[in-house]
Amino acid sequence: MCQVDEEGISLLEKKPSFGASSRDCMKCGDRAVVIARIKDAFCRSCFLTYFVHRFRATFGKAKVIRDGDKVLLAFSGGQCSSAMVSLVKRGLDQSTHKKLRFTPALIYIDEGVVTGQSKEERATTCQKISDIMKETGFPWYIASLEEALEIPAQNSSPDTCQAGSSFHSNQDPNTDELAGKLEGLCLETEHTQRCRDLLASAKSLTAKQDLVSNLRNRLLVHKARQLGYHKVAVGDSGTRLSSGILANLAKGRGASIPVAMAFADDRWSDVTILRPMREFTTKEIVMYNALFNVDSLFQPTLATMAGDYASIDTLTETFINELQTNFPSTVSTVFRTGEKMCTAGSDDPDAVRRCSMCKSALDTSVGISSALSATRFSLHISRKEGSSTNENSCKATKPDDATCTDSSSEQCCGQGDGSCHSNQMKSVSAESLSKTLCYGCQVTVRDMKDLNLLPSYIVEESAKIERRSRMRDEIKDFLLCEES
Ligand SMILES: [Zn+2]
Ligand SMILES: [Zn+2]
Repeated sequence: MCQVDEEGISLLEKKPSFGASSRDCMKCGDRAVVIARIKDAFCRSCFLTYFVHRFRATFGKAKVIRDGDKVLLAFSGGQCSSAMVSLVKRGLDQSTHKKLRFTPALIYIDEGVVTGQSKEERATTCQKISDIMKETGFPWYIASLEEALEIPAQNSSPDTCQAGSSFHSNQDPNTDELAGKLEGLCLETEHTQRCRDLLASAKSLTAKQDLVSNLRNRLLVHKARQLGYHKVAVGDSGTRLSSGILANLAKGRGASIPVAMAFADDRWSDVTILRPMREFTTKEIVMYNALFNVDSLFQPTLATMAGDYASIDTLTETFINELQTNFPSTVSTVFRTGEKMCTAGSDDPDAVRRCSMCKSALDTSVGISSALSATRFSLHISRKEGSSTNENSCKATKPDDATCTDSSSEQCCGQGDGSCHSNQMKSVSAESLSKTLCYGCQVTVRDMKDLNLLPSYIVEESAKIERRSRMRDEIKDFLLCEES
């Protein structure tokens, strides 16, 4: 996480071991105030030039943004996204050399439901955030995390350019009216309790954190579509991405590392996630915010006060933060190594089958003598043993036992293309889910007590794929060419 309080910053500046006070700026020779990267000493103004240049260069190098593109900036109020918004503002400034040429807007996703905040607490936070967002002068929007549960499965006409019900923008010149609207922001809907149940159903903090980040990403993409944006910029710093690499490896999500840390994440065909802060360490970002008075708002998350060993994410985060303190160059080694990773697979991105939860390429079609098959086999055996000792509890406590779910009772309306919804699966089995989820997401889902609480975009999609594969099985003898 990127929270270092003001006191921490002043300590850093005063600490003799920090070294900047006794050194000169490497650019102009003035007295240095910060040390960026590992040993580059800068004065205040040269640090700003370096920082803004590096931010712009990240966009320039990737060449994914064209002049006039609309980019939605995901703003959480934290240090990293606050710095990102401030840098975009500087980059768009007319006087800037080589200015940024896109049209930004801000979106804030209220995650109060995750930490069990009351409606009033969430409203207060939204008010504070909206005040910060108003000051930027960009259009802004607020959504609540539980809206992610309403997202339909893909291909069910998501591309409407209409703002959602809980969206408010400062394009409206009347700010008083806007404030009234913000109070009307619906922070307690029927989905709020469902979202709480979903999180309560996940047994480990790792699974909970995975679910929250999945809901957040899905909602960002969904809202971008609704608002007519095709690019979403997030504030992930290099430090956070480095700990993400290690966490993803530990969770069996190695295959998704290349897209999860790339500047342009193209898992969704119509919306690209951008990570313009990836070239900065969290420490550099905190220094930038402190030196140039960038406001940020600390908000508790699931991991707050949870302890270093509470989840895989907290553990890798602690590890990377300690590396950053004691061996700063090692963090960039982790980052650059992650950058070089690639997955073997089809060159045609449209031909790749994607996980219905995280949208990364499915990594589960491997040979019979693979580690994955071995894991599945031992899981199958251990479940069998578990269920034979307690047969009656099979349905209630082991919804993921494939033998407990009778999928043949499901009937189709006969539409034929697999898109019928007339008799949707009322309950979802782990077996059908496992066909549509990557290994990492299967591990997350395995940690859940009730699979039916999963968001509809996962459940519906897996039901659809299940129907299609069953249909393909039925007609396979009549197909002219073998489809994979
Ligand atoms: Zn200087
Ligand atoms: Zn997945």
